[in-house]
Amino acid sequence: MQGFHSRLPADLPLGESAPMNTPRSSFLQSVNRHFTHAMGFLDLPEGLAERIIQCNSTYTVHFGVRLRGRMYSFTGWRSVHSEHREPVKGGIRFTPHADAEEVEALAALMTLKCSLTDLPFGGSKGALKIDPAQWTQPELERITRRFTQELTKRGLIGPGLNVPAPDMGTGEREMAWMADEFRRANPADAIHARACVTGKPLSKGGIAGRTEATGRGVQYAVHSYLQDARTPGVGGRRDPENLRIVVQGFGNVGYHAAKFLSEEDGALITVVAERDGQVVNPQGLAIEELKRHHLKTGSILGFEGGESVAGGSGGLEQPCDILIPAAMENAISEENAARTKAALIVEAANGPLTFEADRILRQRGVIVLPDLYVNAGGVVVSYFEWVKNLTHIPFGLMERRRRERRNHAIAEALEQMTGNTFPAGMRDGFLEGGREIDLVRSGLEDVMRSTWSRIADLLESRPELGDYRTAAYVAAIGEIAAAYEAIGI
Ligand code: NAD
Repeated sequence: MQGFHSRLPADLPLGESAPMNTPRSSFLQSVNRHFTHAMGFLDLPEGLAERIIQCNSTYTVHFGVRLRGRMYSFTGWRSVHSEHREPVKGGIRFTPHADAEEVEALAALMTLKCSLTDLPFGGSKGALKIDPAQWTQPELERITRRFTQELTKRGLIGPGLNVPAPDMGTGEREMAWMADEFRRANPADAIHARACVTGKPLSKGGIAGRTEATGRGVQYAVHSYLQDARTPGVGGRRDPENLRIVVQGFGNVGYHAAKFLSEEDGALITVVAERDGQVVNPQGLAIEELKRHHLKTGSILGFEGGESVAGGSGGLEQPCDILIPAAMENAISEENAARTKAALIVEAANGPLTFEADRILRQRGVIVLPDLYVNAGGVVVSYFEWVKNLTHIPFGLMERRRRERRNHAIAEALEQMTGNTFPAGMRDGFLEGGREIDLVRSGLEDVMRSTWSRIADLLESRPELGDYRTAAYVAAIGEIAAAYEAIGI
C-alpha cells in the first residue's frame, strides 16, 4: 500500500463496546471507512484525500407552514459533498428518520456513483424530516413547495447548480411540485427551469423509464455479474432463471428489481420483506399481484399467493441464492451478517451493509455487488432527462423515421434477394425506429455494462484490492482526484 494514511475521525478503532442490534459504524462512518480503505490503494498528493472525503457543505433549514389552523415546523437538509463537477446531483428523501449525518453519507455516495459511471455531476443529497403518510396531498404539496423556496434562496436547486431527484418517500409528484415552484421563482430563466429536478412525470418534462430506472439498473448489474466469466456466478450458475432471490423493501427500487428479474429473467422471488413482515413462496411470488395487494391494503401481509409472517427482520436470513436489500441503510450489520444465507448480495439500497457486516461477509466468501454501482441506474436515467430538458428535444426525434425507412428498405432487399419473407415475429422489432423508452434502456444498459467492466477489469489487474466495492471506490476516487488536480484545487 502506498500514499495516503488516514487520520480521519471516521476511521475509528473497532471497539468491543457496541451494544447488540446497534451497528458499530453509523452509515456515514461506514462510507468514510470504505473511502479510507480505498484511499490506501491510491497514491494521492498530501491533503487531497481529506479534501475528497470531506463533505463541502450541509445546509440545515427550519421552516414553518400554516396547516390545520396552526403553524407546523419542519427541518430539511441539503448536503453538497463535492463540486469537482457541476451541477451537483442527488435525490431528496422524505422520512421521519432523516438527519444531517445520513444526508452527508448519501451525498458522498452520489459523488462516487457519478464518478464511477462517468456522469458530469458532483454529489449532493437532501432530506426532509417528515412522515408523508401523516399529511394529505394538498398539505404535502404546500410543505414541498416551501422547502423548494428555501433551497432556491440558497442556490441549492437549479439546472446548472444542483439538481435533485426522487428517493425514499418521494416520486414524480414531488418532483413536479419542485420544478413548478422553481420556475415561478425564476421567470427569467423559465426556458431551462424544468432541468432543475429529474424524475418528473412525462407530462412535465420527465423521461420514459425514469421511475423504473434504478430497479432496471439492478437487473442489468445482476446480468453483468452473472455473464462475466471471470466471476464464479452463483454456485457456478450464470443464468438468473430459477435462482432464488430474497428482496427487502417493496418500494420503487425493490418492486421494479423483483418484477424485472422474475417476469423477464425467470428468477424466483421467494421472499419479499417489508417493515411489518415478510411474504414467502418457495415457488416464486407473483410480483404484479403482490403489488396490487400492497397498493390495495397498504401491506404485503395477507397476500394469498404466499405465506405471510408478521414482524421481525428475519426475511434477510431466509435461504436464497441472491439477497437484494432494497429498503434502507444498515439493514445488515455485524449483528445479523453471519446469519444471511445468500452467495451473492446485490446492494440495491444505499449503504445496506455496515462496514463490519461487509467484512464479515467477505470473510465468509459472500460476494457483494456495491451500492455505488448497483443502484446507479436512477442517476444515469436522470442524466438523460436533464440532457433532454436542456436540449428541448425528445431523444430519437430526428432519427426515428429515417431509421424506420432504412430498415424497411433492408427488409425488402433481403426478401427480394432470398425469395423468403421476413419472419413475422422479428419484423416489428426490426422495423421499429427507436422509441424513447428503447433508447433510455439501451443507454442505461450500456452504462451499467461498461461500468461493470471498469470495476471487474480493475480488480483483475489489481487483485490486492480484494473485492468489488474497493475496486469501485478506487476507480471513482481516481477520477475525482484527477478532476480536482485539473482544476487546481
Ligand atoms: P421507497 O420509499 O419507494 O421504498 C422503500 C421501501 O422499503 C418501502 O416500501 C418501505 O416500507 C420499505 N422499508 C423501510 N424500512 C424497512 C425495513 N426496516 N424492513 C423492510 N422494508 C422496509 O424508496 P426507494 O426509492 O425504493 O429507495 C430504497 C433504497 O434505494 C434507498 O436506500 C434509496 O436511497 C435507494 N435508492 C433509490 C433510488 C431511486 O431512484 N428511488 C435510486 C438510488 C438508490
